[in-house]
Amino acid sequence: MTLETESLGLLQEALSRLEEGFHSLPKVEHSPNLDALRIVLLEVAERMQDNYPYPHPLYVGQMLKPPTEIARLAYMLSLWINPNNHALDGGRASSAMEKEAVAEIAKMFGWEYHLAHLTSSGTMANLEALWVAGNLHPNKKVVASSQSHYTHSRICGVLRIPFQSVLCNSLNRMDIAALKKLLQEDDIGTVVVTLGTTATGSIDPLPEILELQSEYGFRIHADTAYGGYFTLVDNLDDSTRAAYDCLKNVDSIVVDPHKHGLQPYGCGCILFKDPSVGKLYKHDSPYTYFSSEELHLGEISLECSRAGSSAVALWATQRLLPLIPGGEFAGYLSKSRTAALTIFEKLQNDSRFIVAFPPELDIVVWVVKSQSASESSRLAKEIFKVAEQEKLYLALANLPKELFLESGEGINWDQDSITCLRSCLMKPEHLDWIDRIWQTLDAVTTKVLKLSMSIAT
Ligand SMILES: *Cc1c(COP(=O)(O)O)cnc(C)c1O
Repeated sequence: MTLETESLGLLQEALSRLEEGFHSLPKVEHSPNLDALRIVLLEVAERMQDNYPYPHPLYVGQMLKPPTEIARLAYMLSLWINPNNHALDGGRASSAMEKEAVAEIAKMFGWEYHLAHLTSSGTMANLEALWVAGNLHPNKKVVASSQSHYTHSRICGVLRIPFQSVLCNSLNRMDIAALKKLLQEDDIGTVVVTLGTTATGSIDPLPEILELQSEYGFRIHADTAYGGYFTLVDNLDDSTRAAYDCLKNVDSIVVDPHKHGLQPYGCGCILFKDPSVGKLYKHDSPYTYFSSEELHLGEISLECSRAGSSAVALWATQRLLPLIPGGEFAGYLSKSRTAALTIFEKLQNDSRFIVAFPPELDIVVWVVKSQSASESSRLAKEIFKVAEQEKLYLALANLPKELFLESGEGINWDQDSITCLRSCLMKPEHLDWIDRIWQTLDAVTTKVLKLSMSIAT
């Protein structure tokens, strides 16, 4: 693996430029004890070797994508100021950059008017969405699919909002009939629609859910923490595209720039279609708001101190790689999707594996064919382990048996769930490495199956 360091020279140049802005202040001398720093820093470098190689294309496991160079550099550069985007007093330039950056994200979703800000994570962004939902629909239930992120039920617990999960169909999407039944029987205030579930990247049927909304009148929150940016790509399936095409009709959207937006961790985003929900956040802080009459980001968010550096990095990234269909950034996502489709096709044509449904985004999940669910799960875990020894880094996911009842014909369901192999092909480079990835998976599978046969006989 080669860690990119060529761009570091730019940081030095940009720091000098930054300093020019403060030249009217008297000099302050400060020279760090380099020897002491060096010892600790090299110790850190050694400690950090104990990680999976997330930036490498042979890491195809969990949702981990390296920040792009411009994000890394802009983030580092801003650390010499260390702005706090809670209030303009703490981060004037970076607050303006945050507003510009989130306006571009809102525009990507088709919203000119909006209320939006960054958060430290998708979890915090979803918390704000459900907090607003609960305020607008007190005592009514929030529902989300059984494959939605666990954060929704947990957040509802924190907020003391009643929560119920909705069954998924054989494509791992929210089951419309099940949702309709709940709407008829219960007082549902908000439906959480996931575009890009965390386990499989599945897309809930938003067009049908919007139809139900016109009949039953609930709020819709779209959790697109993972999948939001895929609205820009040109190679989605029709039903997936249809969901994105009506995303602008929902009430709130969450997207994580630290997942597919090429940002370092600490960057989620919440967007509301109706800016007037801002009044729910109203509070009086005696400490922070003295520098201007303008709305502070701290007045429209639940978090107080927040890394202004996140906004700076995001702004810079979107400057270099605008969020436009057909652009370079969109092209990266299209490549990821093509990589997923390529692997899917290979898996589908291989009798050792079962794939229940095609990937809707860039996540592929598959099962090892075997006589029982328990044996299949064991084999998946074994392949996961041996692949790692062979420098291919996959992930595992536990999925309910209902998903595989058709595709997994002949499996003895001696348990209710099955351990699947899972791959998030998030990096654009994955497409160039796809043959290598497949060859290793192929060889590892052959090895594991051979071994398990020889043990069985
Ligand atoms: C990752 C994810 C979350 C949680 O976001 P964090 O940034 O990890 O807190 C919520 N929902 C979905 C669909 C996700 O993929």
